[in-house]
Amino acid sequence: MDTCIRHIESCFARADIKAKTWRQFTDENERHYAYACLARYSAIGQIMGGGIPEIPTVAIPPDARAKIASYLHRVIRDALGSSWPTVVKARSMSLDSSLYSVVDNETAKGKTRRYVKVISSTRNKRISLPLSGISRVSGNIRVVLDEEHKRAFIHVIYDVARLPKATGPAVALDWGITEVCTDSSGVHHGNEYGRALRSMAERRNKTGKARNKLHALSKRDAGSRRTKHIARNNLGTKKQQARTRRARAQLKTISGAAIKEVVYGDGNRTRAKKRVPQLPSQRPREIIIEDLSRLQGKARSKNISRLCSSWARNENQERITVHAYVGGSGIKTVNAAYSSQTCPDPGCGYVHSDNRYGDVFHCRNPYWDCNWQGDVDHVAAMNLLNRIEDHEINRFTPYGEVKKILDERFLRRLESRVGARIVPLGTTGNGVRGTCVEDGATAHGRTPSILRQPKLDVGGGQPPTRPSSVPVDRAEHAKAAGERTAFS
Ligand SMILES: [Zn+2]
Repeated sequence: MDTCIRHIESCFARADIKAKTWRQFTDENERHYAYACLARYSAIGQIMGGGIPEIPTVAIPPDARAKIASYLHRVIRDALGSSWPTVVKARSMSLDSSLYSVVDNETAKGKTRRYVKVISSTRNKRISLPLSGISRVSGNIRVVLDEEHKRAFIHVIYDVARLPKATGPAVALDWGITEVCTDSSGVHHGNEYGRALRSMAERRNKTGKARNKLHALSKRDAGSRRTKHIARNNLGTKKQQARTRRARAQLKTISGAAIKEVVYGDGNRTRAKKRVPQLPSQRPREIIIEDLSRLQGKARSKNISRLCSSWARNENQERITVHAYVGGSGIKTVNAAYSSQTCPDPGCGYVHSDNRYGDVFHCRNPYWDCNWQGDVDHVAAMNLLNRIEDHEINRFTPYGEVKKILDERFLRRLESRVGARIVPLGTTGNGVRGTCVEDGATAHGRTPSILRQPKLDVGGGQPPTRPSSVPVDRAEHAKAAGERTAFS
């Protein structure tokens, strides 16, 4: 059952059903009804059987309900396809307190060993599982078998004590690869992360290359003794998997500490050691993170593969959700499109890929002196923080649409500076390029600064492409239109 639910959820996520539904229906009630259906497995079952579920909390006319149900039927059918998971072996079972008992025994060395005795298929015979260490085991537990290592885990649910609701200023996070994350005040958390991630990726590349060679070799003379030998001794996956597990455990430790730092405040990284929690005003009221489901493979380095960085991001996202709950902070996801290419200056907001060069952000606004400079992760986090109050850009706004909105805003700011109406010609993908000034004269008769050559002589390295074509295009357009704009 668990497997089926997880399968359905992963299919929904992959097919973007929620976003599709959001775009399909504009009415608030209709969206509400559709989302309520998607959240209930009984409703999904009804829809897939051709029925129209009744959701008592949403008031909506029957014909609208039928329309939504038939739409959901179609998209869910497409999403699930013909795939259905098969459960090979039962690896875990959940037990309530009547189905197991906890016993302590003294060992020969005078130490106490705790056992969990679990019911078995034979009557009056329980299976004893020795625990490593003494932990409290009570309530509903889940026994998980790890057949490879001949051991079992016992998962116990503890009630976590939530801290009082946080009241400090909201903070936005940008997940990184040299550090775990950068917050919107520019602080990097978890600086050792980059080294660990890099060594994991390097190791993987190195062994991957060696394995590929051996694969090629064994393909060439298949069936020989040598090939069999290689297959058994050099191409196994046990050690490889163990390595990945160890590396991931290391990454988890680093990111866990960094995330705690964000949620509970600095100096409170070890709550287990009974340090006093930070005051509510020192913990963020809200934590804003990027919506990962919409932005796949935002890998910033060729060496660190998309695979491991996306694994790490998802892991971090899950982790921070738990800690935010415990720490009494709210959590919001926002659209992260263009967050590292947009100038964070509220009076500027120039968007261009040239603004960013490696780790450095430098506003290349060619129209006026902005020159905003800083750390690119900090800029991204600041932009994410602003997105929370953005009513035009929501989580489901498509990538291209975000660019249009940002460019449009920049043009309006440019207009208010120049005092003229600017019409985008929209010749290239870059919306700012190829704009045309309808009336170049300013109110004070000053030469507008828009024709200034862009400054490119600043530190942080030259960008790969220069936006120098912008003023030239503009001059030509203005000439063709016979404007009395002064070029100087
Ligand atoms: Zn700027």
